[in-house]
Amino acid sequence: MPVSSDILPLQKTSDPATAAEVVDLVQQARAATTPLYPIGGGTSLHFGLRAKTPGWGVTLSKLNRVVDFPARDMTITVEAGITLAELAQTLAAEGQRLPVDVPAADKATVGGVIATNWNGPRRYGQGSLRDFVIGIEAVDGTGLLFHGGGRVVKNVAGYDFCKLLTGSLGTLGIITQVTFKVRPIPERSAWLACSLSSPKQAEAMLAALQQSAVVPAAVELLAGPVWQSQSALDELKLDPRGYALLVLLEGTAAEVLWMKDHLRREWRDAGVVNPLMEDGCAAPWLQIIEFSADLDSPITVQASVKPSGVLPFIEVCRQRDPNCSVLAHAGNGTVFVRFATFPDKGLGQLLLGDLQPAASAQQGHVVILNAPPGAEATNQSYWGGEAPLALMTAVKRRFDPLNLLNRGRFVY
Ligand SMILES: Cc1cc2nc3c(=O)[nH]c(=O)nc-3n(C[C@H](O)[C@H](O)[C@H](O)COP(=O)(O)OP(=O)(O)OC[C@H]3O[C@@H](n4cnc5c(N)ncnc54)[C@H](O)[C@@H]3O)c2cc1C
Repeated sequence: MPVSSDILPLQKTSDPATAAEVVDLVQQARAATTPLYPIGGGTSLHFGLRAKTPGWGVTLSKLNRVVDFPARDMTITVEAGITLAELAQTLAAEGQRLPVDVPAADKATVGGVIATNWNGPRRYGQGSLRDFVIGIEAVDGTGLLFHGGGRVVKNVAGYDFCKLLTGSLGTLGIITQVTFKVRPIPERSAWLACSLSSPKQAEAMLAALQQSAVVPAAVELLAGPVWQSQSALDELKLDPRGYALLVLLEGTAAEVLWMKDHLRREWRDAGVVNPLMEDGCAAPWLQIIEFSADLDSPITVQASVKPSGVLPFIEVCRQRDPNCSVLAHAGNGTVFVRFATFPDKGLGQLLLGDLQPAASAQQGHVVILNAPPGAEATNQSYWGGEAPLALMTAVKRRFDPLNLLNRGRFVY
């Protein structure tokens, strides 16, 4: 996959076909003290700080095989360059899935998704990506091929490299192989949605869901112009200053039927009139999954806050930019905001002056997913000020003493 020099300063790109070839490349880079930039599907290479030091690209696209799929054990071992769409297709043939929703699944690779630790709406009901990675193989910055976990679900020996590498943004090792535990595809799904006129009403509805006997697969809160023009939500007649609440239900036919009826009754008792109800998981779920990957907005940020802090954080963003569009995986406290305009006072000031304090007040932090090239920013404004930097740097030194892997893109 060709990568523009605006995104990564590449002198050349190699496409190893085996883990041994990755080891070889790291050893060559080490001898030349040249940085290496792992590349999956290229869908998130703008995520994080721009790399400045020229180096070599390592494309994982040839490492794309299914290594082992013992379907009855509900695990699968794949190479890191396989796309999420291919993985889903392989699993679906056995009625199984990895319940992680990823934008651009036809390009996004297993290695990239683990490196960036992306989680979609179903994290609420199914757990996070980290929970599904039970085995990992990677090459560190010294050229050592190492393994963590294994191919069976019950496996607790040694250091937990699976958890460490998930979210490491390719700075600790080039991931070459992964074993996931997987889940059966549920028999049925359905979604309910309602329009809420104020943050107060939205807060009350979210709190009520926590107490409900219904166990949703996803709880999404939407606001802003992007959703006003979403035809699947037309009937809700969304108030421009209000919110839409969407709840996804999954399970057996009987479970989904029971949850639909129960939730509809609870919403009626709470004063909700005419909720939308649809069987299946069609529109607007694709738009929900792709929301944060849309690059049209001048700035996209992601905040992780405590679930009860979702609405206060969104309200701060809407005060700064009344035309911003918002998607929150509300049950998990993950909020994506696509701002409509670039702030007059600059990116650093928006983050350090407004958004980081608003997120900290809700025990969370903010990171930038997308900003224009050259927008003024620092490590601190990009990644937040409260990362345990000393500990992270010590770990980085053990795995990559020459700082070859993704140099300058994360906090080091
Ligand atoms: C703006 C934006 C919003 C997103 N929103 C969501 C969301 O809401 N929900 C969700 O689930 N996902 C979301 N994603 C996640 C996205 O789908 C994944 O980050 C993406 O799939 C990564 O895969 P890739 O193969 O394209 O990686 P790339 O873009 O090629 O690489 C991403 C990073 O991972 C590193 N990397 C890639 N492969 C490896 C490897 N084998 N070993 C080590 N490091 C590696 C790269 O060096 C780079 O730092 C979003 C992404 C973006 C950019």
